[in-house]
Amino acid sequence: MNFSSKLLEDAVSEFAKLPGVGQKTALRLVLHLLGKEQEEVDTFGNTLIKLRRDIRHCSICHNISDLPVCSICSSPRRDKETICVVEDTRDVMAIENTSQFFGVYHVLGGLISPMDGVGPSDLFIDSLVQRVATTPVKEVVMALSATMEGDTTLFYLYKKLKDFQIPVTTIARGIAFGGELEYADEITLGRSIVTRIPYVSSIVKS
Ligand SMILES: [Zn+2]
Repeated sequence: MNFSSKLLEDAVSEFAKLPGVGQKTALRLVLHLLGKEQEEVDTFGNTLIKLRRDIRHCSICHNISDLPVCSICSSPRRDKETICVVEDTRDVMAIENTSQFFGVYHVLGGLISPMDGVGPSDLFIDSLVQRVATTPVKEVVMALSATMEGDTTLFYLYKKLKDFQIPVTTIARGIAFGGELEYADEITLGRSIVTRIPYVSSIVKS
Protein backbone atom coordinates (compact mmCIF):
# COMPACT_ATOMS: atom_id res chain seq x y z
CA MET A 1 0.00 0.00 0.00
CA ASN A 2 1.20 3.47 -0.85
CA PHE A 3 0.35 5.85 1.95
CA SER A 4 0.21 9.60 1.58
CA SER A 5 0.89 9.97 5.29
CA LYS A 6 3.25 8.27 7.72
CA LEU A 7 0.69 8.78 10.51
CA LEU A 8 -1.92 6.97 8.46
CA GLU A 9 0.51 4.19 7.61
CA ASP A 10 1.48 3.71 11.26
CA ALA A 11 -2.14 3.51 12.40
CA VAL A 12 -3.01 1.02 9.65
CA SER A 13 -0.04 -1.16 10.52
CA GLU A 14 -1.13 -1.25 14.20
CA PHE A 15 -4.66 -2.31 13.31
CA ALA A 16 -3.34 -4.89 10.86
CA LYS A 17 -1.56 -6.61 13.78
CA LEU A 18 -4.93 -7.63 15.21
CA PRO A 19 -6.12 -11.18 14.53
CA GLY A 20 -8.27 -11.47 11.42
CA VAL A 21 -7.60 -7.90 10.31
CA GLY A 22 -5.85 -7.49 6.97
CA GLN A 23 -4.42 -4.29 5.48
CA LYS A 24 -7.66 -3.37 3.69
CA THR A 25 -9.83 -3.77 6.77
CA ALA A 26 -7.24 -1.91 8.83
CA LEU A 27 -7.36 1.01 6.41
CA ARG A 28 -11.17 1.04 6.49
CA LEU A 29 -11.19 1.11 10.31
CA VAL A 30 -8.58 3.85 10.50
CA LEU A 31 -10.41 6.01 7.96
CA HIS A 32 -13.61 5.41 9.90
CA LEU A 33 -11.96 6.68 13.08
CA LEU A 34 -10.54 9.67 11.21
CA GLY A 35 -14.09 10.64 10.34
CA LYS A 36 -15.05 10.77 14.03
CA GLU A 37 -14.89 13.70 16.44
CA GLN A 38 -11.61 14.14 18.32
CA GLU A 39 -13.29 13.39 21.63
CA GLU A 40 -14.64 10.09 20.42
CA VAL A 41 -11.24 8.94 19.17
CA ASP A 42 -9.66 10.06 22.47
CA THR A 43 -12.14 7.87 24.36
CA PHE A 44 -11.37 4.95 22.04
CA GLY A 45 -7.62 5.24 22.55
CA ASN A 46 -7.81 5.95 26.28
CA THR A 47 -10.10 2.98 26.87
CA LEU A 48 -7.48 0.66 25.43
CA ILE A 49 -4.65 2.27 27.37
CA LYS A 50 -6.64 2.07 30.60
CA LEU A 51 -7.67 -1.53 29.90
CA ARG A 52 -4.09 -2.69 29.49
CA ARG A 53 -2.80 -0.68 32.43
CA ASP A 54 -5.50 -1.32 35.03
CA ILE A 55 -6.76 -4.81 34.29
CA ARG A 56 -6.20 -7.39 36.98
CA HIS A 57 -6.63 -11.10 37.31
CA CYS A 58 -8.61 -12.54 40.19
CA SER A 59 -6.18 -13.88 42.79
CA ILE A 60 -8.37 -16.94 43.31
CA CYS A 61 -9.61 -18.02 39.87
CA HIS A 62 -7.35 -15.93 37.55
CA ASN A 63 -10.31 -14.61 35.60
CA ILE A 64 -10.01 -11.07 34.23
CA SER A 65 -11.30 -8.68 36.87
CA ASP A 66 -11.29 -5.03 37.95
CA LEU A 67 -10.72 -6.03 41.57
CA PRO A 68 -8.21 -8.32 43.30
CA VAL A 69 -11.00 -10.88 43.75
CA CYS A 70 -13.54 -11.17 40.92
CA SER A 71 -17.30 -10.72 41.30
CA ILE A 72 -17.94 -14.47 40.92
CA CYS A 73 -15.44 -15.55 43.60
CA SER A 74 -16.69 -12.88 45.99
CA SER A 75 -20.39 -13.58 45.46
CA PRO A 76 -22.08 -15.23 48.49
CA ARG A 77 -24.57 -16.84 46.10
CA ARG A 78 -21.96 -18.96 44.31
CA ASP A 79 -21.17 -22.52 45.37
CA LYS A 80 -17.46 -22.33 46.18
CA GLU A 81 -17.18 -26.12 46.45
CA THR A 82 -17.83 -26.73 42.75
CA ILE A 83 -14.95 -25.53 40.58
CA CYS A 84 -15.24 -25.39 36.80
CA VAL A 85 -11.85 -25.48 35.06
CA VAL A 86 -11.66 -23.56 31.79
CA GLU A 87 -9.02 -22.43 29.33
CA ASP A 88 -9.69 -18.69 29.32
CA THR A 89 -12.01 -15.82 30.13
CA ARG A 90 -14.11 -16.39 27.01
CA ASP A 91 -15.16 -19.77 28.38
CA VAL A 92 -16.23 -18.18 31.68
CA MET A 93 -18.32 -15.69 29.71
CA ALA A 94 -19.91 -18.43 27.58
CA ILE A 95 -20.82 -20.54 30.61
CA GLU A 96 -22.11 -17.50 32.53
CA ASN A 97 -24.34 -16.69 29.55
CA THR A 98 -26.11 -20.02 29.98
CA SER A 99 -27.13 -19.13 33.59
CA GLN A 100 -26.90 -22.85 34.34
CA PHE A 101 -23.75 -22.99 36.44
CA PHE A 102 -23.66 -21.74 40.01
CA GLY A 103 -20.21 -22.78 41.10
CA VAL A 104 -16.93 -20.93 40.69
CA TYR A 105 -14.21 -21.11 38.05
CA HIS A 106 -10.52 -21.74 37.63
CA VAL A 107 -8.99 -20.16 34.53
CA LEU A 108 -5.89 -22.05 33.36
CA GLY A 109 -4.71 -19.37 30.96
CA GLY A 110 -4.24 -21.85 28.11
CA LEU A 111 -3.86 -25.56 27.45
CA ILE A 112 -0.84 -27.85 27.57
CA SER A 113 0.61 -27.86 24.07
CA PRO A 114 4.12 -29.27 23.61
CA MET A 115 4.00 -28.20 19.94
CA ASP A 116 3.62 -24.57 20.98
CA GLY A 117 6.04 -24.92 23.87
CA VAL A 118 3.30 -24.59 26.50
CA GLY A 119 3.95 -26.83 29.48
CA PRO A 120 2.07 -27.30 32.78
CA SER A 121 4.25 -24.71 34.51
CA ASP A 122 3.07 -22.03 32.06
CA LEU A 123 -0.51 -22.49 33.24
CA PHE A 124 -2.34 -21.90 36.52
CA ILE A 125 -2.27 -25.56 37.44
CA ASP A 126 -0.38 -25.39 40.73
CA SER A 127 -2.87 -22.86 42.06
CA LEU A 128 -5.73 -25.22 41.16
CA VAL A 129 -4.09 -28.04 43.07
CA GLN A 130 -3.53 -25.61 45.92
CA ARG A 131 -7.22 -24.62 45.92
CA VAL A 132 -8.31 -28.23 46.01
CA ALA A 133 -5.81 -29.00 48.77
CA THR A 134 -6.70 -26.08 51.01
CA THR A 135 -10.42 -25.41 50.53
CA PRO A 136 -13.40 -27.76 50.69
CA VAL A 137 -14.19 -28.88 47.14
CA LYS A 138 -16.89 -31.40 46.25
CA GLU A 139 -16.50 -31.49 42.46
CA VAL A 140 -14.09 -30.31 39.79
CA VAL A 141 -15.79 -29.82 36.42
CA MET A 142 -13.48 -29.85 33.42
CA ALA A 143 -14.85 -27.65 30.63
CA LEU A 144 -11.96 -27.90 28.20
CA SER A 145 -12.07 -28.12 24.43
CA ALA A 146 -12.31 -31.51 22.72
CA THR A 147 -8.92 -31.09 21.05
CA MET A 148 -5.65 -32.92 21.55
CA GLU A 149 -4.45 -30.07 23.78
CA GLY A 150 -7.71 -30.17 25.75
CA ASP A 151 -7.40 -33.94 26.25
CA THR A 152 -3.75 -33.73 27.25
CA THR A 153 -4.53 -31.02 29.79
CA LEU A 154 -7.53 -32.90 31.15
CA PHE A 155 -5.53 -36.07 31.66
CA TYR A 156 -2.68 -34.17 33.31
CA LEU A 157 -5.08 -32.40 35.68
CA TYR A 158 -6.87 -35.64 36.47
CA LYS A 159 -3.59 -37.26 37.52
CA LYS A 160 -2.73 -34.22 39.64
CA LEU A 161 -6.11 -34.25 41.41
CA LYS A 162 -6.62 -38.00 41.70
CA ASP A 163 -5.17 -38.32 45.19
CA PHE A 164 -7.65 -35.82 46.62
CA GLN A 165 -10.49 -38.29 45.96
CA ILE A 166 -12.74 -35.53 44.65
CA PRO A 167 -15.13 -36.30 41.79
CA VAL A 168 -13.72 -34.98 38.51
CA THR A 169 -16.36 -34.55 35.81
CA THR A 170 -16.40 -33.24 32.25
CA ILE A 171 -19.02 -31.45 30.25
CA ALA A 172 -20.28 -33.21 27.11
CA ARG A 173 -17.43 -33.01 24.62
CA GLY A 174 -17.74 -31.68 21.14
CA ILE A 175 -18.70 -28.29 22.47
CA ALA A 176 -16.70 -25.63 20.70
CA PHE A 177 -14.65 -23.86 23.31
CA GLY A 178 -11.80 -21.44 23.53
CA GLY A 179 -11.29 -19.62 20.26
CA GLU A 180 -14.53 -20.94 18.80
CA LEU A 181 -16.83 -20.41 21.71
CA GLU A 182 -18.74 -17.61 20.05
CA TYR A 183 -20.19 -20.31 17.81
CA ALA A 184 -21.26 -22.61 20.65
CA ASP A 185 -24.96 -22.27 21.21
CA GLU A 186 -26.14 -21.38 24.68
CA ILE A 187 -28.74 -24.12 25.05
CA THR A 188 -26.30 -26.92 24.14
CA LEU A 189 -23.62 -25.53 26.39
CA GLY A 190 -26.14 -24.98 29.19
CA ARG A 191 -27.34 -28.55 28.92
CA SER A 192 -23.86 -30.02 28.99
CA ILE A 193 -22.81 -27.98 32.02
CA VAL A 194 -25.83 -29.38 33.87
CA THR A 195 -25.46 -33.02 32.76
CA ARG A 196 -21.77 -33.49 33.27
CA ILE A 197 -20.26 -36.94 33.36
CA PRO A 198 -17.57 -38.47 35.58
CA TYR A 199 -14.17 -38.25 33.91
CA VAL A 200 -13.16 -41.85 34.67
CA SER A 201 -16.05 -43.31 32.68
CA SER A 202 -15.04 -41.33 29.64
CA ILE A 203 -11.55 -42.85 29.79
CA VAL A 204 -12.96 -46.37 29.98
CA LYS A 205 -15.05 -45.77 26.88
CA SER A 206 -12.21 -44.56 24.72
ZN1 LIG B 1 -12.33 -15.14 40.77
